[in-house]
Amino acid sequence: ASPGKKRYNITLLPGDGIGPEVVSIAKNVLQQAGSLEGVEFSFREMAVGGAALDLVGVPLPEETISAAKDSDAVLLGAIGGYKWDKNEKHLKPETGLLQLRAALKVFANLRPATVLPQVTLLLLFTLTSIYFGVPRGIKTNENGEEVGFNTEVYAAHEIDRIARVAFDTARKRRGKLCSVDKANVLEASILWRRRVTALAAEYPDVELSHMYVDNAAMQLVRDPKQFDTIVTNNIFGDILSDEASMITGSIGMLPSASLSDSGPGLFEPIHGSAPDIAGQDKANPLATILSAAMLLKYGLGEEKAAKRIEDAVLGALNKGFRTGDIYSAGTKLVGCKEMGEEVLKSVDTQV
Ligand code: ATP
Ligand code: MG
Repeated sequence: ASPGKKRYNITLLPGDGIGPEVVSIAKNVLQQAGSLEGVEFSFREMAVGGAALDLVGVPLPEETISAAKDSDAVLLGAIGGYKWDKNEKHLKPETGLLQLRAALKVFANLRPATVLPQVTLLLLFTLTSIYFGVPRGIKTNENGEEVGFNTEVYAAHEIDRIARVAFDTARKRRGKLCSVDKANVLEASILWRRRVTALAAEYPDVELSHMYVDNAAMQLVRDPKQFDTIVTNNIFGDILSDEASMITGSIGMLPSASLSDSGPGLFEPIHGSAPDIAGQDKANPLATILSAAMLLKYGLGEEKAAKRIEDAVLGALNKGFRTGDIYSAGTKLVGCKEMGEEVLKSVDTQV
């Protein structure tokens, strides 16, 4: 290698289903981000899973094992599909993945909670707030002790106003509205719930639910996909929006890394081979692209190039591009290839 240029060997294991579609895109993104940081790759594509079974009769050929072990990192697409479901156990594509993990001695699985803004959930909250409500202050009580206090005040018209925006928004999205409050203990929340419930009659096409804020905080982490539009007060919205910003709405967005003590790491999207959409240019390539970013960061220590990829993904999302799994009204629906091209463009235009 020429001085100043770093060169890495990467084993690509496209595998089955949407694997080949998303890996070829992630490869291009990796190459492009690397070239801007003086990092070069030589790629070696090997067979694994059902593809290897069809080719040579085993899910993890010897040549694939030795290529993977000899490389600096391994990027995997996905393994499996209906076609091989009836195979005997040792001839199942998934066995290849277990064997690969064992061969690479990977033991630590990293799944970032994610740095991307969530994309299928919309949180609405009031601007009027307990932060500004009166009376408020710190004063001395009868016993001469200091007490601090705030007041949450919501007038009926203020609740109606935000609720209408929320119903209108939900109507244009997936027609689901969840109102978050603490009506079991807070007076302002009791009025909140009463007003929102009354308004629901005007929006028969919107499915309204109510949730206490403590439960909502848990549900957001447990299963964010259950939410479409959330409406809540200022203080709850303040807190929940930070939480929601750390959550993605689709497995098509989530990368993972499996690391060993010293050998090459294995990087792959969390999703499976998605045979239902394979070959249709519908797959979301972002999970695999973000896995390539993890490969740079955790596998090779190339933080700058990794950051370029993460920023490029955000860039494409900020421009409104969405594959079907994360699409919502007002965004631009694109296929797998076009999403990949937008990320590539975004890599190029970074300063
Ligand atoms: P595994 O193979 O890991 O057991 P699975 O069979 O449970 O996974 P997946 O193959 O991940 O599930 O697919 C689950 C659903 O998610 C399918 O409807 C699939 O189309 C969808 N899906 C998975 N990955 C993506 C992606 N990258 N983009 C869009 N949709 C996806
Ligand atoms: Mg599957």
